[in-house]
Amino acid sequence: MSLALFLMTVFIWKNDQLYSPWIIVLILYVGIVSWGAFDLRLNFFMQSTTSVRKNVQQVAITFDDGPTPFTLEILDLLDQYQAKASFFCIGTQVVKYPMIAKQIIERGHVIANHSMNHPNKMGFLPSGQVVAEINEANHAIETATGKKVLLYRPPFGVSNPHIAKALHDCKLKSIGWNIRSLDTLSLTEDQIFARIAKKLSPGSIILLHDTSEKTVHIVKSLLIALKVNKLEAVNLEDFLNQKVYEN
Ligand SMILES: [Zn+2]
Repeated sequence: MSLALFLMTVFIWKNDQLYSPWIIVLILYVGIVSWGAFDLRLNFFMQSTTSVRKNVQQVAITFDDGPTPFTLEILDLLDQYQAKASFFCIGTQVVKYPMIAKQIIERGHVIANHSMNHPNKMGFLPSGQVVAEINEANHAIETATGKKVLLYRPPFGVSNPHIAKALHDCKLKSIGWNIRSLDTLSLTEDQIFARIAKKLSPGSIILLHDTSEKTVHIVKSLLIALKVNKLEAVNLEDFLNQKVYEN
């Protein structure tokens, strides 16, 4: 499809037929494909769970890019507020902090796959390399915790046919979000918390990163807000009501 469009564009260009409706179609096509690649909620290339219709007062707090020493502070806060969460870990971080990965499980939370290296070019890798990224991270998590994970979150939230095929081959389920905190950007803690608070509702999946002190503070505000609103933070096993490990 993309190749055909490209060849037709070259053909039209070479023949000096700058046919404007055609150019508009091309721009629309590129726009829609790019949007589909970066917004998991569209389920454009693959199915991702981004929220769940709930008649109980539950939300899922999820953390990407750990484990790091900040994960320990977050685990303490979660214990303090009797909340459970889910951690999409990078394989290399699990190798670096295996004891923290183990604690995630021991303290009642869920651990899942967020690729081995979180490569910037994830969206451009062939499916074989995506499979390697997934398998290596699964191996690192299993070595540290004994768990064979079934959930995956695409780095950068990027999806494309290669990633869809790799997930299908590895039999993993893609989990997105419907509340993006933007906690890794240079917004203040108050601005980030306000972004989350205004969208909080039962069935939400909240995206945070256990990689900074700023997020630790935001998590504390969030846990207080959940208590006030009588919303319970549960791990993805309870939230989705399905198996999150093979063993
Ligand atoms: Zn990430």
